[in-house]
Amino acid sequence: MSTPVHHDTTDTAKPSNFLRQIIEADLAQGTHANNRWAGSPGDAAHQGAGAIDPAKIRTRFPPEPNGYLHVGHAKSICLNFGLARDFGGVCHLRFDDTNPEKEEQEYVDAIVEAVHWLGFDWKDSDGHENLYFASNYFDFMYRAAEYLIEAGHAYVDEQSAEEMRASRGDFGKPGVDSPYRGRTPAENLARFREMRDGQHADGAMVLRAKIDMASPNINLRDPAIYRIKRAEHHNTGNKWCIYPMYTFAHPVEDALECITHSICTLEFEDQRPFYDWLLDRLAEGNLIAKPHPRQYEFARLNLTYVVTSKRKLKHLVDSGIVSGWDDPRMPTIAGLRRRGYTPAAIQAFCERIGVTKDYSWIDYGTLEGCLREDLEVKAHRAMVVLDPLKLELTNWAEVFGSSDHLEACSLSALPHAAEGETVPERHFTLGREVWIEREDFAEVPPKGYKRLFPGNKVRLKGGYVIECTGCEKDAAGNIAKVLATVVPDTKSGTPGADSVKVKAAITWVGVQDGLQAEVRLYDRLFTDAQPDAGGKDFLALLNPDSLKVVTAYVEPSLAAAQAEDKFQFERFGYFVADRKDHRTDKPVFNRVTGLKDSWGR
Ligand code: ATP
Ligand code: MG
Repeated sequence: MSTPVHHDTTDTAKPSNFLRQIIEADLAQGTHANNRWAGSPGDAAHQGAGAIDPAKIRTRFPPEPNGYLHVGHAKSICLNFGLARDFGGVCHLRFDDTNPEKEEQEYVDAIVEAVHWLGFDWKDSDGHENLYFASNYFDFMYRAAEYLIEAGHAYVDEQSAEEMRASRGDFGKPGVDSPYRGRTPAENLARFREMRDGQHADGAMVLRAKIDMASPNINLRDPAIYRIKRAEHHNTGNKWCIYPMYTFAHPVEDALECITHSICTLEFEDQRPFYDWLLDRLAEGNLIAKPHPRQYEFARLNLTYVVTSKRKLKHLVDSGIVSGWDDPRMPTIAGLRRRGYTPAAIQAFCERIGVTKDYSWIDYGTLEGCLREDLEVKAHRAMVVLDPLKLELTNWAEVFGSSDHLEACSLSALPHAAEGETVPERHFTLGREVWIEREDFAEVPPKGYKRLFPGNKVRLKGGYVIECTGCEKDAAGNIAKVLATVVPDTKSGTPGADSVKVKAAITWVGVQDGLQAEVRLYDRLFTDAQPDAGGKDFLALLNPDSLKVVTAYVEPSLAAAQAEDKFQFERFGYFVADRKDHRTDKPVFNRVTGLKDSWGR
């Protein structure tokens, strides 16, 4: 296993990669300088009547609408849309909906939303939206299939699936010709039309490309290109009972859309010769514009502690293990968004991991690191108490003249604001009673403990120095309240602040002005770094503690929080107001990630 290459850049230029180099070379050589684009997808005649394509390159992101997009798709999105953006091109969003069975409108909508949210669009320079559905190309695909038959490049094979598998051979053994391989184009055409017209049962026969049964590349041993499948399609209804195979449909889709660089994951490397074979034949027949698209492959993203197979993600949803596709523990883009990830962090992550042809596992901590870098300078700070214990300042009335007195306090919301930037402030009050973290008090302090224990002084962050005097217990012997006294004239930001030295400053929230909030403490969904690698059962590796919900107190500045606002809760990490459930009068925050990389510790 190798790790991705990181290039040092002295300026703001993007690190190069093999795909950028290919595109730069194509631009330098004018490979696509004469490409024509008629403003919509179409065959050679359609495009030939168009003007020179103002887009320098055309890429595409072609999801199958059978699930929500995940972080692996984000890599492909950032790559395809990013290359188009950087090289004066356009990236199409194409729904690869040629498989009639599994597609749903919910997924189409979610995919559109996810790509937009990540920061990309699919507009031409004239504002035309390049959003396409592959099923709109069925008529052309059918015509292309008839053309291949007529030109002697395809035949209808009536062998059973079993026989076809057996006659395909294997790596060491060439395949054997089908007894149907020698049929004339006229016979094949008649048969293919019978297939189309519903005269044969599902699976009774397939249309195969006629290439080479002895090819060392098994994908060239007469691959199937059309099958009979009686299934209603969400777009074309019952018009068709034959559907193209993916390996046939995909190159055709690229060609009709005048894609210049068709970028896919490495599993498709062995398909490239068929991609070229097919498009060469269709170009020969003047069915598609020339030069035809070229396929390039890169290594897919493998991220530790997640699964990215859509089938497995769907299982997590359907079985109720998570609350939905957008559960904040899901590696879907909708899940990452709800968890509190930002488009900028995901884009930075995709840049950082780079594009290579080598498989590798990317540590989940890399993604978290990108979020911290983004939020460190943007997210307002706030104090919260996640495990509240009440503390009473018993000399409050004596020092301030009234037990109801509230002392106004403030802290910077962005302590690392750039110079010259106005630094936003948060305001809150200190009164006789405050909430502190239960773990910040110890009746009998363990060795080295610097926080509250009888006789010790600490600072209430942004407030006063206090001295612990003891605690009160309930009938069961649990600590119910911590008792302390406030040390006068030690308020933060006043001249007397340093008059008393303390070893710790603890976070707190006033009982008077603190707000109750639900805080959802998310953790990784799996306990294993590679939960579905090497035949492991990912369902046996679920983390039982991936979600802990607590009732917390948060400082009053958070009353203004809107859904999806992100904060740094001091000492705890980054949190977001939940996209679905947060209400001003019933706040809900999700933990995105801790302050430091504690992964694997
Ligand atoms: P599945 O096989 O789990 O259903 P898929 O990857 O085949 O998912 P598609 O909708 O076909 O899903 O994927 C759309 C695009 O996203 C494809 O071009 C694919 O190469 C790319 N892609 C999918 N997974 C990854 C990944 N982990 N890393 C990079 N690109 C990916
Ligand atoms: Mg797929």
